[in-house]
Amino acid sequence: MTDMLSLPDHDWPVLQPGWVWLCGAGPGDPGLLTLHAVNALRQADVVIYDALVQEAILAWAPQAEHIYAGKRGGKPSAKQRDISLRLVDLARAGKRVLRLKGGDPFVFGRGGEEAQTLVQHGIRVRIIPGISAGIGGLAYAGIPVTHRDVNQSVTFVTGHDQSGNTPGSLDWASISKGSQVIVIYMGMKHIAQIAGHLIAAGRSLSEPCAVVTTATTPDQRVLETTLGTIVDDIAASGMEPPAIICVGASVLMRQVLDWQGMMAGEAPRNLDPLGRGLPAESA
Ligand code: SAH
Repeated sequence: MTDMLSLPDHDWPVLQPGWVWLCGAGPGDPGLLTLHAVNALRQADVVIYDALVQEAILAWAPQAEHIYAGKRGGKPSAKQRDISLRLVDLARAGKRVLRLKGGDPFVFGRGGEEAQTLVQHGIRVRIIPGISAGIGGLAYAGIPVTHRDVNQSVTFVTGHDQSGNTPGSLDWASISKGSQVIVIYMGMKHIAQIAGHLIAAGRSLSEPCAVVTTATTPDQRVLETTLGTIVDDIAASGMEPPAIICVGASVLMRQVLDWQGMMAGEAPRNLDPLGRGLPAESA
């Protein structure tokens, strides 16, 4: 089965023994892997993967040993150190090491820390970017992360820091004022505080919000709500992390761009959710 997709002719890099490739696996759907990721999966002796990497993707590296290095938010950084040092050991043992992380390795994924530790230990690395959940996951919900009529900027924030608290270093008032669209990773636990900060900084209670859980997988769920109701609506929905939360008017575009709903036979709810007028032929 793994031979069914042959890579196009190209000067594909070779994963050498003793190297570590730090690779993004995308948000879930295996079709969102990059070709560099597929090339890496085919060559690895060892794949060290995170909790958010879909098991199906590991089947693309049947020759490799699969090591789970799962670690969900707010755990002590000692564990991160263990993972990094494990990568060092494997590389020193002459393995071709693929470190596979959900989304993009350098977006809220501690990829920078791991790569730094490897380089500090004299290990050669390659970085393979991936599709981040805050972009690709929203796209699967029919939400464009930027849309000309809505936003000229977008802010990606993490809902908690290393200690598991809402990041004290974040200036929520500035984010609130400066960014039309805010995309929150790891925001479920502290959504009440986060929504409170944004409302206190002047964002409207009626501001559109979306919560997208297990985006791009068959279990994807999408909740459309507002800043004023998001806390209660999440509780009522029973939705669980991993979730991307999007705050801003681009969420309205889902009314016309919910392409998964349309694939399932639903009609678009509103052809002009931002009230910009319809092209003559569709009016
Ligand atoms: N490096 C990853 C982010 C890692 S932080 C990336 O670029 O996407 C982990 C957080 O990412 C989760 O708590 C959640 O907020 C988000 N996330 C990752 N995959 C997701 C998915 N399939 N659906 C929804 N959120 C996801």
